[in-house]
Amino acid sequence: MLNKLDPFSLREILKSTPRVLITMHKGPDGDAIGSSLGLYHFFKAIGVGASLIAPDSYPKFLKWLPGCDQIIEADKDLAKANKELKEADLIFSLDFNHPSRLGDFEEAVIASEKPKYVIDHHQDPSDFADLYYVDSDASSTAEMIYRLIEEFDQTDLIDIDCATCLYTGLVTDTGSFRFSSVTPQVMRIASELMSTGMDHVKIYNEVFDNSTLDRLKLRGYALSKKTIVIENAGAAYISLTEKELHHFNYQRGDTEGLVNYALSIEGVHVAGFFYEKDGFVKLSLRSKGNVEVNKIASALFHGGGHKMAAGGRSDESLKNTLAKFIAVAKAGFDLNQMEK
Ligand code: 5GP
Ligand code: MN
Repeated sequence: MLNKLDPFSLREILKSTPRVLITMHKGPDGDAIGSSLGLYHFFKAIGVGASLIAPDSYPKFLKWLPGCDQIIEADKDLAKANKELKEADLIFSLDFNHPSRLGDFEEAVIASEKPKYVIDHHQDPSDFADLYYVDSDASSTAEMIYRLIEEFDQTDLIDIDCATCLYTGLVTDTGSFRFSSVTPQVMRIASELMSTGMDHVKIYNEVFDNSTLDRLKLRGYALSKKTIVIENAGAAYISLTEKELHHFNYQRGDTEGLVNYALSIEGVHVAGFFYEKDGFVKLSLRSKGNVEVNKIASALFHGGGHKMAAGGRSDESLKNTLAKFIAVAKAGFDLNQMEK
């Protein structure tokens, strides 16, 4: 049983904590960046200094968020990241629950003797930290940060910058408030964040209506040429080779959301998106039915995630990886029925 992070004791601990380090998962998305920056702004408001470490770079559509110039990318400046790690009294891990998600920064964090606190909404956390605030029913880590601040009774300290970051986490992890994870509480939190005066139209425009022409063309190509429906399996997938990505001057984040188009096809209840990256295949899986794609991701693709949204990677060729996905789809996503 993992030790639970209790907001009341955390509040006490923070009173005597001059400096914290906030880490997030590699390939950080809107929730990883938004929740981390939201917590950073809140800590600033209560007089706790924080540094922010991302294992690697994050998409351009998040590079306008207030405070993001403070984020140290460990793959670009490992020395600086290690220095911040040494100087911190506490380490927060946001929006992930397995240390491998820290990429090359994993080793240093694991080796550090500083207390480690996980705040996350993924299932099955692994045992690497000291305290866990985990809620796999939460829509986003940003929602959990809001709830934490609420338990501190300090929502009045949420300023426009903090609200902007948390709202970005909410809007990205809920597919613009349309996923089943959206509850009345999520809408209440969104409403309270809006009440700070933050600009939700700007957030939407920056995050979703900010495509480069190359990105738009890549999407068009993927949809018209690379979307395959697996007959009688209720499944579809999109795949892109490194060469195809290169042709469209791929930048990180350009394929974000593509998998949802495959899922939007009538009769499709599981969708996959596969692309070649640095000699391996990275993949995203989505479900809108009973299939729990995190189980497929962890059994077949060294990954994990949520029931409806998961991801992983494969060291096999793109062709073999797709063959595996097709096989499990044809087996009705029943891992026991899959032909060996
Ligand atoms: P995405 O498809 O948007 O990259 O990821 C969807 C979800 O799957 C994320 O919330 C993330 O937690 C999980 N996920 C994506 N890639 C990996 C991975 O390589 N390993 C694990 N354990 N989870 C992943
Ligand atoms: Mn998240």
